Amino acid sequence: MQKTELKTSAVELPAAVSPNSHEANLFRQVVANNGNVDGQTARSFVNNAFYGGFGPNFSFEKLDINTRVNLYTSVIKNAEVTPNHQAMLAGLHETLGFDKYLAEYGRRQEQKLEQALGNKRALEAAWKAEGRTSTFADTVTKFVHASTQMTNSEKIATLQFIENVAARADGRKALEVVPFHDDNRGSIGLHNGMQIKINVNSEAFEKSPTTILNAVVHEGFAHNGQQVRGQKVVSGEIGPGHPDYIVGKIFAAQMLTKAGYIAPTNALGSHDAYERNPVEMDARRLGDAGARILIASYGLNESVATRLASAPHAEPSAPANDRRGFRPDLAPRVA
Ligand SMILES: [Zn+2]
Repeated sequence: MQKTELKTSAVELPAAVSPNSHEANLFRQVVANNGNVDGQTARSFVNNAFYGGFGPNFSFEKLDINTRVNLYTSVIKNAEVTPNHQAMLAGLHETLGFDKYLAEYGRRQEQKLEQALGNKRALEAAWKAEGRTSTFADTVTKFVHASTQMTNSEKIATLQFIENVAARADGRKALEVVPFHDDNRGSIGLHNGMQIKINVNSEAFEKSPTTILNAVVHEGFAHNGQQVRGQKVVSGEIGPGHPDYIVGKIFAAQMLTKAGYIAPTNALGSHDAYERNPVEMDARRLGDAGARILIASYGLNESVATRLASAPHAEPSAPANDRRGFRPDLAPRVA
């Protein structure tokens, strides 16, 4: 009956909530501030949303996307990496409705990959401009079909070239691609904010070249592209109205804070929760696209492409203190 009086912003207090309750105050505070609240308030709001505190009909999608993404950012404020916090993040990844925005961004980024890695003439020119002998066509064909005939440093140089081209297509500074040696043979690559590390001891490095092509795009074009956008949102260079603003806020939360990311090995014991990180959903898509485009451009045989689809995913292991060590206030800017 009194519902309209309780309206704050455009979202009404759910009818099931008693107007003078703690839940009502919480609801009004979050809505009135478009989700920009302190960490504890944000987490309390999310807990209520998950456990029915706002009644059976409340869903996050009743909040506009800006409020949702701000709330997501607020949830991470002053948070510790605990099982409860990670469970909350995992739940938010399923319910905040970010997929549509990530998909739109992914399509734009895929077009850039198509233009960069699908253009053989431009690739050869860039290859030559780097003073390399042979042709990129021969090199990438050898990489895929006869990689045992290449040294590790020849392989890394090939990957560096792909990162250089992909970075340029996205208007960011290329990262250095460096080999590292991890006894965990399932660990393929990682991005630590300043480098792309490729595990030369991995099974994929030995046996699945397309997985490695995928990995360098996943770690560089995707994850570094996310980080750079996150930084630009923090600095204000990407503001409201920019097509990358919403995803940039998600990337800032996930890439620039310790508590915003669910690591491959996590307290929930859920590899799925890691794979459902928005930044991982995006990176998988773009890594797959990059490898697919290269394979198609150079007419590399289909059995390889088929293997790619079932290949173990890039980056099963990104040590928390390496990948998550990056903080915008402590580290040099990447771009
Ligand atoms: Zn990843």
